[in-house]
Amino acid sequence: MNSKPTYTIIAPIYNEIDNIQALYTRVCEVMDSTGESWEFVMIDDGSSDGSTDAILELKKKDHKIVPVIFARNFGHQIAVTAGLDYSQGDAVVIIDADLQDPPEVILDLIQKWKEGFEVVYATRSKREGETWFKLFTALAFYRLIQRITDINLPMDTGDFRLLDRKVVDVMGGMREKHRFLRGMSVWVGFRQTGVEYERAERLAGETKYPIKKMFRLASDAITGFSYFPLQLATYLGFTFTGISFIAILALIILRLAGSQFLMGQAATLIAVLFLGGVQLLSLGMIGEYIGRLYDEAKGRPLYTVRDDLEVK
Ligand code: UDP
Ligand code: MG
Repeated sequence: MNSKPTYTIIAPIYNEIDNIQALYTRVCEVMDSTGESWEFVMIDDGSSDGSTDAILELKKKDHKIVPVIFARNFGHQIAVTAGLDYSQGDAVVIIDADLQDPPEVILDLIQKWKEGFEVVYATRSKREGETWFKLFTALAFYRLIQRITDINLPMDTGDFRLLDRKVVDVMGGMREKHRFLRGMSVWVGFRQTGVEYERAERLAGETKYPIKKMFRLASDAITGFSYFPLQLATYLGFTFTGISFIAILALIILRLAGSQFLMGQAATLIAVLFLGGVQLLSLGMIGEYIGRLYDEAKGRPLYTVRDDLEVK
């Protein structure tokens, strides 16, 4: 492509062989209706089911496709980051490859962008085919983030959103290893708004976000935008010091009065176990931050790309 396109669509793809063709068809239908130039950055996040070949095959037929083939699986947030790095459009839209984000909504996002908004996120008004567990954890997560971070993360938004070139450029300079892109795009600022949509069911295949990955994303979000877990140790320290001070005084008075209250070993044991638990938890939270600091200090690249496969 010689000149820069107006729009870039980014889709992270991890073993989505049964969705790629439908994704391509539906996105093309929507984007071609705009009558403006666009490109489609497909990031293959180390797929092993033939998605890689499917992407390269599409590229042969259609030069709007920009394939970015990772050398291994780096995870969803890193895949989207690579998409942002490779994008050239004036407006960039991030969309899931499983068609849970209906491509038709892109037109609404574009409309808001044309009205002058730099970040247009899509808010899920309804979620089809999600387990109650996912709905509950998602709700709890958004509430927690609202409370303990400075960023005003809109409820029920995923990564499905449009970002203006300005925002993409700022985010391009934010190279943290543990990434929570939704938070980062809010942190950037500028004019932000949302449009509502009904989240569809996954077209084919299984979710690539098992509980372990969900928790990792949640802890990246919290550690990335809040010191609260670190401060918690201080708050707890003050609380327990206060309580023990009062307890010591109370026990001295009780003993002087001849009371046998709290004489047994059980009380001692429970207190020691409880405080041991609190201390280990606080240490663990510090560990979460230290591990991330260590990752940053190593300064490794965020991802590696197989350029031997690229079709020119
Ligand atoms: N994905 C990815 N790398 C991963 C996991 C997921 O690129 O390690 C992609 C996946 O192919 C999909 C998007 O990220 O396009 C969202 O994943 P998924 O639909 O499994 O998440 P869910 O909608 O269940 O939260
Ligand atoms: Mg999905």
